[in-house]
Amino acid sequence: MEFIDLKAQYEASRELINQRIQAVLDHGQYIMGPEVVELESGLAQYTGARHCITVSSGTEALVISLMALGIKPGDEVITTPFSFIATAEAIVLLGATPVFVDIDRTTCNLAPSLIEAKVTPRTRAIMPVSLFGQPADMDEINAIAQRHGLAVIEDAAQSFGATYHGKKSCNLSTIGCTSFFPSKPLGCYGDGGAIFTSDDNLAQAMREIRVHGQSRRYVHTRIGVGGRMDTLQCAIVLAKLERFEWELMQRAKVAERYDVLLSGRIERISCISARTSVYAQYTVVVENRARVQEQLHAAGIPTAVHYPVPIHRQPAYAHFSSADCCPVALEMADKVISLPMGPYLSAESANTVAITLLSAAGIALPEEITTTETAEQQSMAAATASALP
Ligand SMILES: *Cc1c(COP(=O)(O)O)cnc(C)c1O
Repeated sequence: MEFIDLKAQYEASRELINQRIQAVLDHGQYIMGPEVVELESGLAQYTGARHCITVSSGTEALVISLMALGIKPGDEVITTPFSFIATAEAIVLLGATPVFVDIDRTTCNLAPSLIEAKVTPRTRAIMPVSLFGQPADMDEINAIAQRHGLAVIEDAAQSFGATYHGKKSCNLSTIGCTSFFPSKPLGCYGDGGAIFTSDDNLAQAMREIRVHGQSRRYVHTRIGVGGRMDTLQCAIVLAKLERFEWELMQRAKVAERYDVLLSGRIERISCISARTSVYAQYTVVVENRARVQEQLHAAGIPTAVHYPVPIHRQPAYAHFSSADCCPVALEMADKVISLPMGPYLSAESANTVAITLLSAAGIALPEEITTTETAEQQSMAAATASALP
């Protein structure tokens, strides 16, 4: 079993992807070719945002957004400590200070009720992360931002395709940033990312920053970066976009299978009302994680931990806040475990994962599992368990 099965995904779209790649090799416009423009207009339409700017990675999307907003040394940006490092890294790269606010235990997203106490005269922006594929509490966050004149950047690297009150992630705030890293729900075969906004001036600034701050050829109006996404990667995303909605449905089915078997038995990061998740990760909360992970591994089930150390406890980031600023993030970092997930994970595999997990956590198996299947898998799990020290 694969944690995320990228090979099966390629097989399913092989012809489309190969054709798209061949077309780029034939026209030879490797940088800023027609596929870049096609992808940007397709993604803008998909999210409903007025502008989409493709960039070289999700990390670069965050950096370019902050640059366009004029974030500078001395500024503060409120964010979550429970994310991939790139979220806070982008803030620090601009010389600004990340101000960490704790998360909500149910969703692992930024807890909006804790934000306002951290707003100071130096605060310039709030950067929530739509973690594991589920949009953060954007209405509450936008309302706080509006009261204090702040920008909101949604780090939507894991949530492209998710919805919030019917609106698409990436189009929920001043700026939305996503990533096409291969293992994300919509991935390319290298690095890539995109920025979304409906603000014309910000869009123009971000387009210029992406190409070294160039407003016309060899006229550099502002400081920029080399941040383009190459044509081949855009072509691959265009091909994968064709099956994307179907893939999201398959992901939701796997999540539903897990939900049915685990609900009431194991704490899960749940999708709350008025939003959908694209399940970049399906994550559960367990005590004694090392042992559970070991037993799953012994049964041939790969798992991952997102994330074992919250950002405010990372050596390079520890001086930005007090070590005990975010107790929920700290606790979750010790207990979360992500299960295999993807559009090509079979229902049987999902069953096996859930049953093995329950057994490893010492929880009675649900009755709705057919008895033959249960007996077989129980003995497998028991054999696994007895093989452990
Ligand atoms: C993956 C990810 C990023 C960075 O994206 P890259 O394309 O790898 O640079 C940023 N934030 C979050 C929450 C991510 O999951």
